[in-house]
This record gives sequence, C-alpha cells and structure tokens, in this order.
Amino acid sequence: MGDAPLPPALTDLTVPGYDVLRELPGARSFTPKQVRRWVLERGVRDVDAMTDLGKELRARLGEAWRVRRGALDRVHESRDGTTGILTRLDDGRLIESVSIPDEDRRTLCISSQVGCAVACRFCASGLEGVERNLTSGEIVEQVLVARELAPDRPLTNYVFMGSGEPTHNLKEVRKAIAVMNDPAGLGIGARRITVSTVGHPEALARLAEDEVPFHIALSLHAPDDASREELMPGLGPSRLEETLREARARFEKTGRRLTAEVVVLGGVNDTDEVARGFASLLSGLNVVVNLIPWNPVPDIDLAPPDPRRVEAMADLLRARGVTTTVRRPRGRDVGVACGQLRRHAASRRPRD
Ligand code: SAH
Repeated sequence: MGDAPLPPALTDLTVPGYDVLRELPGARSFTPKQVRRWVLERGVRDVDAMTDLGKELRARLGEAWRVRRGALDRVHESRDGTTGILTRLDDGRLIESVSIPDEDRRTLCISSQVGCAVACRFCASGLEGVERNLTSGEIVEQVLVARELAPDRPLTNYVFMGSGEPTHNLKEVRKAIAVMNDPAGLGIGARRITVSTVGHPEALARLAEDEVPFHIALSLHAPDDASREELMPGLGPSRLEETLREARARFEKTGRRLTAEVVVLGGVNDTDEVARGFASLLSGLNVVVNLIPWNPVPDIDLAPPDPRRVEAMADLLRARGVTTTVRRPRGRDVGVACGQLRRHAASRRPRD
C-alpha cells in the first residue's frame, strides 16, 4: 500500500474552523459556508457532490481535504426498532452507534472512544481495554450517518452512552458537542444532548466551563467509593463526595437536572441496603435515579437482577423522596445492547 498520509477531514473542523477554506486557490468569501452546509446539513460524502462550487475549486478542495473519516459498514435492525450502526474508521477499526425508538422519541447512542479504559465489570466496551480516542469528526459523523439512514425517522435525543468514557476524550467530545449544538453546525439543542460519565470531579468542572448546557448522567452503580472502585477497576480513586459537589455546582449554573445511572446486577448491588445508601447519598440533590437492569454480555459471568428486586429498590428510593425510573432493555434480540455489536462483528468477521 502506498502510505501517503490521508488529507484531513472536513468533519473534524469546528464551525468557525471552516474559514480556513478561504485560503484555497479560487475560494470566495462564502466558500466556507457553502462547504459547511454540504458537509453538515446535506451530509454529502464526496467533494464532487458540492455542485455550487466551481469545478476548479472542487478539485482543489478534493486534493487538500476528505469529507469524512469513516464509512458505514453495516446496519442491524432489531425487532423493537432499535438499529445498530457499525462504522468502519479509516484505520480499519469499528465503532458502533445505536438508534433507539421510544414512543415519540428516537435516541442516538454515540461512542466517544474505541473501547474503554474504565473496564466496568459488567460492560462489553472495556473488555479489550481502550484502543484510541475518536476525533470530533468521527463523533459528528455518527450523527450524520444515523440521519441519512433514516431521514423519515428524525432523531430527537443524543446520548454519549456508546463505547468509551467521554471524559477520557474531553477535548474532542467538547469540540463535537460544539459542532452538534451550533445552529450553523448540526443545530441540536443542548437539552437534547446527554453526556454519560463516570464523573471524575476535575472533568465535571471542565465540562461546567462549556457554554452548552447539555445534560450530564453520572454512572454511579454503587453508593460508596470502595464498591465503585470494585465495580469499575479502571476508574482510579472514586471520590463520590467531590463528584456530587461538582454536579451540584453545575446544576446551579445550568438548571439542568442530573441523572444518576445505576446498572443493577443480580446478587451484587440489588439490595435494599444499596438503595438506602443511594437515598442518603443523593438526598437534597435535584436528581433522577435511573435503575438499569443489567443487559447480559457473553463472556461476562454476572446475572441480571430479578425484576422484583429492581422494583423494590425503586419503591424504596421513591419513598425517600428520590425520583426514580427503571429502564427497559432494548435491542437484545440482535445483540446491539451496550457495546455488543462491535464485539460481535469483530469476532465474527475480522475484515473482508
Ligand atoms: N463511559 C460512560 C458512558 C458509556 S455507557 C459511562 O460509564 O457513563 C452508558 C451507560 O450504560 C453506563 O451507565 C454504563 O454503566 C451502562 N452499561 C454498560 N454496560 C451495560 C450493560 N451490559 N447493561 C446495562 N447497562 C450497561
């Protein structure tokens, strides 16, 4: 293979970043805006599709830039309407996004890394560690691909709940969110974007600097530091108190209610005692607890909880004044739940 480096991708630009295109030979003052609209609004994959650019300018643009970094590899439709979308990156790696319908909503679950370093004991994404961070373009492209796959089923919500820990790739995730949120970018309202994170306090503080008041979901899983460190071996020291202090500060700044996620594992964290622990940890915070019954993952020797246990925990939390929801499992029949599609695909068919 000739190893000439690939040109940079337009999807990696910030919205103001498109201004560099003014420097192309033959570019006009409005060229950046024209190109940006082709890439982000009309979702073209090829410079040649940008028909309102002169032929010469298109040639110059095509020499210096690619449109995208990845390409759709495969789509899996689940019976419940959940769609798993696999993208092949330009280094051959695969990432997955999942589009999940729910009544009048359709949520896109976005990956931020290939793999994950936190390696939560119950999660498929971290089984092989982290391979690399995604660029902002690779994150933005997940939205573009999902939009073009189902133009008649518009996405309403965007959650960073695919593979990866978003705060381990904070720079690119923040850049991608800025492009997603900008009215001249993808035009997605901040309240439709959720970043799910293990909640390192420093990272929460940096996220609070962003002008974009997106939602934060904290993956707690256990109400005390020692049990969290046990369940999340790559987390490092758990500092729940500081995490919640930062979360409260952000709430005061943005008014965005916090979500606390708890993956419930049978015989591990499904007891009334754990629920009481969460009730006292979270008392006084404006928070919704989301109890997530564990989705079984092949090769992980854990058990899903008895649904009656999950309901008992929810009842206990609600009785103590904590708003609590229980998540329904989705996409299980084709194994697209929680990072499973990528692994499945990788083990079934290395590359062809
Ligand atoms: N790294 C981020 C975002 C990725 S996962 C985080 O930890 O928040 C999004 C949510 O799905 C997290 O709460 C995660 O714990 C949960 N999750 C991962 N694997 C799961 C599984 N097999 N069943 C149910 N929830 C799972």
